[in-house]
Amino acid sequence: MVNLTEDRAQEKAFLSHAPGYWPNVSPELWNDWKWQLKNRVTSLAQLEEHLELADEERGGVLLSGDKLALAITPHFFNLIPRADAEDPIRRQVIPRIEETWSSPYDMIDPCGEDSHMPVPGLVHRYPDRVLFLVTDRCASYCRYCTRSRVVSGVGEQELHTEFEAVYRYLETHTEVRDVLLSGGDALLFSDNKLDQILARLRAIPHIEFVRIGTRVPIFLPQRITPELCAMLAKYHPLWVSVHVNHPRELTIEVKEALERLADHGIPLGNQSVLLRGVNDDIETMKTLVHKLLICRVRPYYVYQCDLINGSSHLRTSVAKGIEIIEGLRGHTTGYAVPQFVIDAPGGGGKVPINPGYILYHDNEKIVIRNYEGKIFEYPEIGNENVQFAPQREYHDEYLYS
Ligand code: SF4
Repeated sequence: MVNLTEDRAQEKAFLSHAPGYWPNVSPELWNDWKWQLKNRVTSLAQLEEHLELADEERGGVLLSGDKLALAITPHFFNLIPRADAEDPIRRQVIPRIEETWSSPYDMIDPCGEDSHMPVPGLVHRYPDRVLFLVTDRCASYCRYCTRSRVVSGVGEQELHTEFEAVYRYLETHTEVRDVLLSGGDALLFSDNKLDQILARLRAIPHIEFVRIGTRVPIFLPQRITPELCAMLAKYHPLWVSVHVNHPRELTIEVKEALERLADHGIPLGNQSVLLRGVNDDIETMKTLVHKLLICRVRPYYVYQCDLINGSSHLRTSVAKGIEIIEGLRGHTTGYAVPQFVIDAPGGGGKVPINPGYILYHDNEKIVIRNYEGKIFEYPEIGNENVQFAPQREYHDEYLYS
């Protein structure tokens, strides 16, 4: 029987699960990130050695090989219970037969990246910033990955980033001031290779700001060595966005890895994806954002799950995301409240989705409600030079009462 009190206590704690399913591995090997990568769980036989698989999972593993590879680091695998197929960690990384279902809304490239790619491996969708896809490999593979068409190397497409062409493009596009390294996961590169990429970018005078989007501190905290952190610190301002969906992912090893990055002056933000059966309730999200702050990570975005092929079983309603933000805003620390966004299908970029706090707005006043539902008015000064999108759809009960 599920014990909710114990489950909640486990979610709130920073627990180490090592050595877990690998009782005979020495701490030296366990803490070696290359050992972790070499010993990833990648096959049905390995899964069955440790877990009692549900039919949906066994079928999913057998049929998912040409969509997105199965790979889970031992560190992350230790978070998975032996017998619960609905476990929130398990649902993120173990394929299920539902991945072979298609819904009428599913897309191969839901964010329209391929149509905004002036050079292979570089997405230039927003005016002043670019997404640099440096690799197609990750430490573990998330079953809802937006870029599963290329990530892991077994999907519909292959990633052939032309590094020199990317640098030439960036050198001549002086409007680009912000480069996000992603993929795949740039922190899987050796220190030396990543050093070279960052040095090339930093040599371009108009690039002011570099970001790395990574799930390595979560899947593979052993990779966040003091040497890596010292190398990254040469390239400030450099920010890191991590990706944590559930509070149990924040183990003591992950917390220490995040602290090492923060101690080297790297600001940390978190991007979660709202996932059915993983984090689609207020209490789980509240525990997650509180733990992130303890780890010195600012909750940044919660994404509505993209319409990626085979992810319909993991998607929630948009209303669920709004409900979660409503349950956080005002009820906890402002720094803990992320922005809920939909990455507009087809390449429209991120659109913020908020609960309706504005009830009415014209040139004379704005009528707002707070987190308790209490209604307030604030005078508008009617500045004709201010342009804002029309906001006159409002709660009927206010307009007509
Ligand atoms: S870590 Fe990121 S890029 Fe890699 S599989 Fe997960 S979501 Fe996709």
